[in-house]
Amino acid sequence: MSMQEISYWNREIETISSEALRKLQLKRLKETVNTALKTPFYNARLKKAGINSADDIKRLEDIHKIPFTTKDDLRECYPNGLLSVDLNDVVRIHTSSGTTGTPTVIYHTKEDIDNWTELVARCIIATGSGKSDVFQNMMGYGMFTGGLGLHYGAERVGMTVIPIGGGNTVRQIQLMKDFKTTVLHITPSYLLHIHSKLAEGEISVKDLSLKKAYLGAEPYSENTRKKAEELFKIDAYNSYGLSEMNGPGVAFECIHKCGMHVWEDAYILEIIDPKTAEPLSEEKEGEIVFTTLMRKATPLLRYRSRDLAFIYKGGCKCKRTHRRISRITGRTDDMLIINGVNVYPSQIEQVIMRVPEVGTNYQIYLEKEGTLDKLIVKVEIYSKLFTGELKELDALRERIKEQLRASIIINPVVELHEPGSLPVFEGKAKRVVDTRTKL
Ligand code: AMP
Ligand code: ZN
Repeated sequence: MSMQEISYWNREIETISSEALRKLQLKRLKETVNTALKTPFYNARLKKAGINSADDIKRLEDIHKIPFTTKDDLRECYPNGLLSVDLNDVVRIHTSSGTTGTPTVIYHTKEDIDNWTELVARCIIATGSGKSDVFQNMMGYGMFTGGLGLHYGAERVGMTVIPIGGGNTVRQIQLMKDFKTTVLHITPSYLLHIHSKLAEGEISVKDLSLKKAYLGAEPYSENTRKKAEELFKIDAYNSYGLSEMNGPGVAFECIHKCGMHVWEDAYILEIIDPKTAEPLSEEKEGEIVFTTLMRKATPLLRYRSRDLAFIYKGGCKCKRTHRRISRITGRTDDMLIINGVNVYPSQIEQVIMRVPEVGTNYQIYLEKEGTLDKLIVKVEIYSKLFTGELKELDALRERIKEQLRASIIINPVVELHEPGSLPVFEGKAKRVVDTRTKL
């Protein structure tokens, strides 16, 4: 446990009693229902469910009367079926980063941006960062919420912000050195890639002043966190968000790194069984469902995130009362079925990242071989191993294969690659290449 002193951005709200929190949530849920009724989509949806005004919500439990909202609903609302204010009051539009299909659109008023900024400021302070830090934001700016979301929060806290965005690794490294960057916001895959680039150049980890990294935007394992922490000698904090709920700032780890606090004055958190939609109790893994409590321009009620996680039981040492969710273990829609076996890419990552010889990049490749599925796991290994004995390489390949077989119960082909030979992603990594044609 860290001996760091606990600091808060907004002590009162971050340590609010459960009872007061529930009261506040009910008040804000009612307001949100009224706001939602102003959108064409919810007006029809809520009235059909017998909710004609906020008066039909008397207790927090009445949220169960409200139907779920799905990603498809949002797509059908494109471009403005979920807008609840006059367009004159909208100061920003974000869309999801999805590369296929109609994007989902979230509108923000000035107040929405301000509230979001406050949530991000809380997250930053919860990790022990502050005014004296130099913050290099390597998440994409633009429609993707990772860049601007953290940017506003970091400025509000008073950090020195380097708004470089993603990409251009050589320049990123130079800036980290020249401005003595202490905190990074970055995807885990890009952070590991930066380490392999460092190995090629003249600047080493010792020349940098890094203390922390905020890692998010894509799923990753505890082993990947550990690897990043060891390679850079930093503390890495998990940062979770989704554009439908603003973006980053929804849930973040505090200095204790034991799950991510969800800001429950801004979101109602539910975990449901993805198959039956029944609510699940604490410690049971299921799909995260969020309801916005403060958003004015695009309220969302019971939004099914498709992200899988569970809620930790009990309080946190930091005394924040907002509950903590686990690392995202997968999505209801990224599950791979390989020869009839269900596999999450995160399970494969978990295995290969604990193999010390494995470098910083990997790819999961699926193809058809006759009628069967073939899983090829391509991993980069440290270059010095390639100069060694062939026998050693074979043994390493066998070892990785065995460990994978034990974990996912299917037999993969393991390919070892030289560092830098697999595709690099500066934003969200595309780890899975599925060439099987779907029927
Ligand atoms: P977007 O709406 O484009 O920002 O994408 C949001 C999605 O990214 C989430 O629904 C998650 O699936 C994923 N994501 C964001 N942060 C994390 C994280 N810390 N761990 C795992 N997945 C994440
Ligand atoms: Zn905590």
